[in-house]
Amino acid sequence: MFAKREASLYLPAIDLWVDASRRRERGYVSHAHADHAREHDLVLSTPETAALCAVRFRSRKRSAFETHRFNEPWEIGEYRLTLFPAGHVLGSAQLLVEGANGRHVYTGDFKLAASRTAEATECKSADVLVMECTFGSPQYVFPPREQIEAEILGFAKAAIEDGAIPIFYAYSLGKAQEAMAILGSAGIPIRVHSAVAKIAEVYRACGVALPLEEQGEAEGGYAEIRPPGRTNAPPAHRPTRTAMLTGWAIDRSARYRYGVDRTFALSDHADYPSLLRTIELVRPRKVLLVHGRDDFTHRLRRLGIDAEYLEEHAQLSLF
Ligand SMILES: [Zn+2]
Repeated sequence: MFAKREASLYLPAIDLWVDASRRRERGYVSHAHADHAREHDLVLSTPETAALCAVRFRSRKRSAFETHRFNEPWEIGEYRLTLFPAGHVLGSAQLLVEGANGRHVYTGDFKLAASRTAEATECKSADVLVMECTFGSPQYVFPPREQIEAEILGFAKAAIEDGAIPIFYAYSLGKAQEAMAILGSAGIPIRVHSAVAKIAEVYRACGVALPLEEQGEAEGGYAEIRPPGRTNAPPAHRPTRTAMLTGWAIDRSARYRYGVDRTFALSDHADYPSLLRTIELVRPRKVLLVHGRDDFTHRLRRLGIDAEYLEEHAQLSLF
């Protein structure tokens, strides 16, 4: 069913490209991160992803969108397609394709753990599971969510008490809104980069409660959220303390690599135990791996799971 063609996933039976890396006539886009959401003549996505794309990629005038809500199946030829939540960022979807040759699920980027701003992940049973495995090594075990949040809040409060500005670097779509919700839950005033604010507006329009950003000078201090790489000089009148929010925080070298004071393992991807748990829940006959670590294939095989890294032209032997 799923094949890899020209460095992208493709469903030949229904002529549908999946998170294609370049423009196609018809492409399914699992979520609005730039490496998945390319411009196509016709984009198939959730309404939330379409709304996020419209704000993020304003210059794209040539894409038409065909949107499908979660768990509202539709048909292409002999096949039934269903989108359901991936829990990665708002609107992020997994794709179920059902037909004569069984049930196939493509996870896209996903996580199992709960979040404050993305829809709760669902797992559906499938014969073939096409799964991302970004954190497919055993060292990637993220601490419990409550612990990470408590540490983030502790860092922010301590900095503010010391008269400093805590600056959190987080992807402008998804992670930054999580950071807004976490800091807002403790009543910490926040300022955000304009790219973050733009996306937060879409979240609010989709019904996600997010705290409002501070506009003037916040009495008693505030925390700031910026996209990674936006290391514009901070306001000179106060010292800053910087932190990166990323699953790669598990790596000891992460703090030095990112050049920040602290890292927190707040991730929007599944960690290693969650990848294995997903396979348990989906109970596939075959696991095809994409977007991640080839060595995860070998780990799964050692566990007796029929797994393969999806390579170019490696048409699935089942079909
Ligand atoms: Zn993503």
